[in-house]
Amino acid sequence: SERAPAEHIGRAQARARCGKKGKPMPVDQSVYPAKELCSRCGFCNTSLIAQVQDACAFLGAGMARIDQLEHTVHGRPRQEEELYFGVQDGLRPIQVAPEARTGRRAWTGVVTSIACEMLRSKAVDAVLCVSSTVDKPLEPKPILARSVEEVLQTGGVKPMLSPNLLPLEELWQVRGEDIQRLLFIGVGCQVQALRSVEADLGLKELYVLGTNCVDNPRNAEALHRFLQSASETPETATGFEFMQDNRIHVKHSDGRYERIPVFSLKEPQNCTGVIAKSCYSCFDYVNALTDLTVGYMGVPWQGGRMTEHQQYCVVRNERGQKMLRLSQSVLELGQAEELQVDGRLSRQQLLPEVLRPELDLAFGQRKPRPEPPRWLAELLSEVFTWLGPQGLDFARASIDRATLRNLVCLEVDLLKKRAGQQMELDATLPKHAKKIRSQYQELFETLLETYRG
Ligand code: FAD
Ligand code: SF4
Ligand code: SF4
Repeated sequence: SERAPAEHIGRAQARARCGKKGKPMPVDQSVYPAKELCSRCGFCNTSLIAQVQDACAFLGAGMARIDQLEHTVHGRPRQEEELYFGVQDGLRPIQVAPEARTGRRAWTGVVTSIACEMLRSKAVDAVLCVSSTVDKPLEPKPILARSVEEVLQTGGVKPMLSPNLLPLEELWQVRGEDIQRLLFIGVGCQVQALRSVEADLGLKELYVLGTNCVDNPRNAEALHRFLQSASETPETATGFEFMQDNRIHVKHSDGRYERIPVFSLKEPQNCTGVIAKSCYSCFDYVNALTDLTVGYMGVPWQGGRMTEHQQYCVVRNERGQKMLRLSQSVLELGQAEELQVDGRLSRQQLLPEVLRPELDLAFGQRKPRPEPPRWLAELLSEVFTWLGPQGLDFARASIDRATLRNLVCLEVDLLKKRAGQQMELDATLPKHAKKIRSQYQELFETLLETYRG
């Protein structure tokens, strides 16, 4: 299922052949081509901007292009049984062996460890990944890392829109031919833009390693607003995650962990506008165009800290297999069957209850209400974890939730604009989003009716 390798023409020739060079926008530009839907992916801050209409995940056919790009990148389209996790050669539990874990990491550090092994084995000359500064550990700073030491500084999620494609300008314009093999690490909207211009980069080889991604805060102010709702000491937070135990786990610089039941967020109505508009328009939770995607949500809850908890990976093609092979000395892979755990209630039963507060938040209709006592919030988290979907079904429930919420948001927005603007939502949707909608058609129409106002 591997595609034919792109003809290698070198950077100078690629530039000449491409012929399309634009003027990069400054990073502090306030309006981008995709306007309020822009995910600030960095593409427009490079001279590749001339191709933005065909590359941007939020312009023209947008994420509907994933269907064709999957075929191009993986050599075949997504099959029926790949509806949720995308084209795959395998889906496995994964973790970094305890003795090989790095200091800075989100979970066990699978992504960082693979990146280091790709450099150590000289499979790549550089890794494009997201670092941060010491004083602002949660704010993204994408870099072209040339050494293992540099990559080790980039572990951990920077939970904010990140201009990951920005260093392509350095690669494309400044680096000449010294970086021929690149490993790119990023999330779905960034990977879609990258894949759209892959042939024009003049690289001998491109490996793409990604993570799942959903509901990213739009900037530092939004992230801070969320942390104030979730944490007693937001100023020392160095990471957080919505975990499978229905709690938000917040890591702190002094080594503390807070575990806050999702039902006891302080004044959740203040979180309106935290999630970027792009993420309310996104249908690529599982990063379908990577060679290898890493996440956590498909693993049954094991208790403990996220930095010790198993993760899972989706291998999409031969390049993904090669990344795992080259990293096998530091990774522990489990069996796919370990992820197949059913909950007591089906995800279809729980979805309406989960979606309403989310849509209230999205439309700014969340009303202030008294916080439940902590013991009750803890109990609710326990009950939902015990009753709810687990393993791959938990992941499917998360994908259903994000897909349906975003479909309702986009359709309601469109209905408001329709008088002056005849846009067809379906023309911008990948097939998997339409299929998920058809599974919940009745619920979708009820929600549409409720929120169209
Ligand atoms: P590490 O070894 O710590 O490496 C993390 C890598 O992520 C780094 O290489 C860095 O380059 C990259 N990175 C960090 N911040 C960003 C960013 N803002 N944009 C692009 N790349 C970045 N997984 C799920 O299963 N379900 C989810 O709902 C989910 N939501 C996520 C939301 C966001 C915004 C992000 C960035 C990730 C999300 N993930 C989700 C993935 C998960 O949090 C971990 O990133 C993944 O399991 C890898 O963990 P690790 O320990 O192997 O990563
Ligand atoms: Fe440009 Fe990326 Fe924004 Fe699209 S999402 S307008 S490609 S910066
Ligand atoms: Fe990009 Fe989608 Fe992640 Fe938002 S949720 S940052 S649009 S991949």
